[in-house]
Amino acid sequence: MAAPTPQEIAREAVKRLAARRLPPTPENFQAVYHEVAGTRPLQPFPYEQLRQIGQELPEATPGQQRFKVLYNKAVARHSWDDLRRLLVQQAWPSPTPAGAAASPGVAVAEAAEARPTRPPEENDDLPGFEHAWREAVARLLTNVLPALGQDDPRALELVQDLVQQLRLEAPHPPTLRRLLGDVAYRLSFTAEEQAGVRDGLLALLRQVFEHIEDLSPDNPWLRPQLGALVQAAQPPLTLRRLEELQRRLRDVTVKQVELREQTLQAHAVMKETLATFLNRLAQTTEGSAHYHGVFERCAARLESAASLAEMAPVVQEAVQAARAMAADAQRAGDELRTLRARAEHAEHEIQRLQRELDQMAEMVTHDLLTGVLNRKGLQEAVAQEAARAERHGSPVCIALLDIDDFKKLNDTLGHLAGDAALQHLAQVARQSLRPHDAIGRYGGEEFLLVLPDTDVEQAVAVVQRLQRDLSAHLFLQDDRRVLITFSAGVTRLQPGEALEAAIARADRAMYRAKRAGKNRVFSE
Ligand code: GH3
Ligand code: MG
Ligand code: MG
Repeated sequence: MAAPTPQEIAREAVKRLAARRLPPTPENFQAVYHEVAGTRPLQPFPYEQLRQIGQELPEATPGQQRFKVLYNKAVARHSWDDLRRLLVQQAWPSPTPAGAAASPGVAVAEAAEARPTRPPEENDDLPGFEHAWREAVARLLTNVLPALGQDDPRALELVQDLVQQLRLEAPHPPTLRRLLGDVAYRLSFTAEEQAGVRDGLLALLRQVFEHIEDLSPDNPWLRPQLGALVQAAQPPLTLRRLEELQRRLRDVTVKQVELREQTLQAHAVMKETLATFLNRLAQTTEGSAHYHGVFERCAARLESAASLAEMAPVVQEAVQAARAMAADAQRAGDELRTLRARAEHAEHEIQRLQRELDQMAEMVTHDLLTGVLNRKGLQEAVAQEAARAERHGSPVCIALLDIDDFKKLNDTLGHLAGDAALQHLAQVARQSLRPHDAIGRYGGEEFLLVLPDTDVEQAVAVVQRLQRDLSAHLFLQDDRRVLITFSAGVTRLQPGEALEAAIARADRAMYRAKRAGKNRVFSE
């Protein structure tokens, strides 16, 4: 007997509904229809949910647009078959004929029907194999994760997303591809950065050691120790080498304290020598006065002497006094010369140390009040970021911040409170920005941010977030909560341009922000 047609089934279903006095709702009709046809009742088609997914599908590429059209068509037709074909094809595109564009985004449901199916062994083996390699990659990434450290939360987030996607029962290939690409891109930077950090640290160590060596040129103990430290601070860096460095450095630090003592002693010697010098001078004068008295007395006795016999002992006394005086003078002269040599040596030592201190002051790159970079430090940071950006072709932005009505804050709360407010802003900025963003104090109440890998739009958003953070963390002064706001100008650093030119642009934008009512961020 021929199978009943859908029309016959529908007629029978309506009859049964009537016989059972069931209201002809879609649910009742569907249930009875399946009963008559002897088929399994379907779950209701989740049209609304699937339609919403359709609205969220991306349409950036022609492939994505095509997929979206076909998906929406399948959903509109309530067709599970079309949907299944479309999704299977999208997740696992059939091999395309040689030469045809193999764009995975272009999944055509109709065409999929016409294509030959894959050989059975490929069909059977690959899903298992694919699952295994996905798990292997996920494990590899999980193992590598601690090596990334905590400095780049975005990289950690991306890796975790990728691991999660890899472990899904059926990952979404475009998402997987995008995440893989993003992670590879981010990790290349992180690896480069970490290698740079290691080399930078070693260079820094060597610099410190060489500097200590310069400070103590004639210390026989320290010289070989420092030489060994410089040697130990050569790449490659290993954990053992680091431990060795740590130990040697501890010893040298102890010696460093001794050196400081010696510097203090140089000052003490200088003072003591000067005091002795003055004492001797006084004694010499006193000594001269003594001999002066002896000679005067001798002269008086000689005048009153009647005979040669009377004169002889007086002359002898005078000659002895003259000899003693000459010997005294000689001794005093010797002593004075020694003292002068010691004083000169101590003075040279002090001058040398002073010169070194001056040079070190010029090398300082941080602002003493707030601990952020000073102008010199900013110049160096911008030069480094500009060079890096040019290598990677990535944008760098700077933002110039000027605190609003700072003079009023100083006038009402005092200069010390003003200083504390500057420290507060620096602290909030450090917490709000990424670790590789640089913060510097450009002038009195002006700060400069250097934001690598950031375009102007993102930079404006970053500075606005800092403004919100500053409003959320009010500055506390004597139990008073003070709101500090700033106006800012943002600009992108152009390749090869001098920092001053970029700052002039940021400054113009900042002044527009001031004129527009302050507590705003403008870009130029
Ligand atoms: P505007 O909103 O237009 O920027 O007004 P303002 O009052 O912030 O700007 P103005 O340039 O008139 O005043 C800046 C004040 O910042 C004046 C100066 O005394 C103060 N200032 C600069 N450096 C320091 C510092 O290191 N400590 C303190 N406490 N105040 C400083
Ligand atoms: Mg100002
Ligand atoms: Mg100001």
